[in-house]
Amino acid sequence: MSEAITPRFRSVLDRFAAYKPGKVVVSPEGRSFKLSSNESPHGPLPSVQEAIEQAARNVNRYPDNSATALIDAIAAKHGVPADHVAVGCGSVGVAQMLIEAVAEPGVEIVYAWRSFEAYPLLVALSGATAVQVPLAEETHDLDAMAEAINENTRLVFVCNPNNPTGTVVRRAELEAFLDRVPRDVLVVLDEAYREYIRDEDVPDGLDLRRDRPNVAVLRTFSKAYGLAGLRVGYLIAHPAVAGSIRKTYLPFSVNSVAQAAGVASLEAVDELMERVEGTVKERERVRNALLADGWTVPPTEANFVWLRLGEQTMEFSAACDARGVSVRPFPGEGARVSIGSPEDNDAFLEAARAYPHRN
Ligand code: PMP
Repeated sequence: MSEAITPRFRSVLDRFAAYKPGKVVVSPEGRSFKLSSNESPHGPLPSVQEAIEQAARNVNRYPDNSATALIDAIAAKHGVPADHVAVGCGSVGVAQMLIEAVAEPGVEIVYAWRSFEAYPLLVALSGATAVQVPLAEETHDLDAMAEAINENTRLVFVCNPNNPTGTVVRRAELEAFLDRVPRDVLVVLDEAYREYIRDEDVPDGLDLRRDRPNVAVLRTFSKAYGLAGLRVGYLIAHPAVAGSIRKTYLPFSVNSVAQAAGVASLEAVDELMERVEGTVKERERVRNALLADGWTVPPTEANFVWLRLGEQTMEFSAACDARGVSVRPFPGEGARVSIGSPEDNDAFLEAARAYPHRN
């Protein structure tokens, strides 16, 4: 027998674990409420389902690599020319494209921490250096982020609302921050949860970017649009930025079914936003019920709530699991709980009520 040869990998892979998505759990009684991935609780609308089925008939062909119909529909929705739009395999795919477009050894990428789990993973893989700026009171510390920017910085993520805390940065502080950022640093406003914001003092990134060519906005079809399983997200940016980003696109990575479903969803936007309204109402109901039960819950503008639980996090998560309620634990820090259907949310509230401690 020949001697075993261990293939060699990049040493950076030793420094982190593979991305761990929200899990599904089933209680001993067979109950299951998935509140661990910030998904929409609704299946596709009939018109979207039909577009999916139509597109599925032609999957022997490669998708349109330029995603022309989808990009045109996104551009029309936001009132921008098509060359301001780049699409990718989920907004996480677009985040990767952005990072790939700027990264090389010595380049720094700034983001708040804790924030979206994929940022550190993608930055580590890219060979650039992550500069993580701790949250202050569970919110972006934009002053500290501005101070963290130096001549090596090429990209900054501002996640608004922030995942997993649900907190937002408001107009005055965000504008003041953007005014401090050098124009050769790209600022990406990650607005994956934009549609759930009801605080009128939170600016729409699309307005902020109008006079600022170095500001780009990241959006997704995975949350409010309910297409998480199809993987499509997009960037709105200055054409010079969008053009560079598009060069990092993994060919055909937005598949033809996803493209068709995205177009059909934009045609059904009113119905989808009614669903979002229901989720927002449920969010307020869940947060108020938790507050009434003695929990501390930061105000949230997203489709989830955050419970800072510290060392209790894994115990709380296990207590929820036992009732078939999957939440997203961040060990030692807290649990993020998505807003689901009223029934899902009731199951979570029961689990939280039965838990013997408060945070
Ligand atoms: N940005 C943020 C802030 C997120 O929370 C997520 C998903 N959890 C994403 C981007 C990526 O979503 P998707 O790839 O499904 O568009």
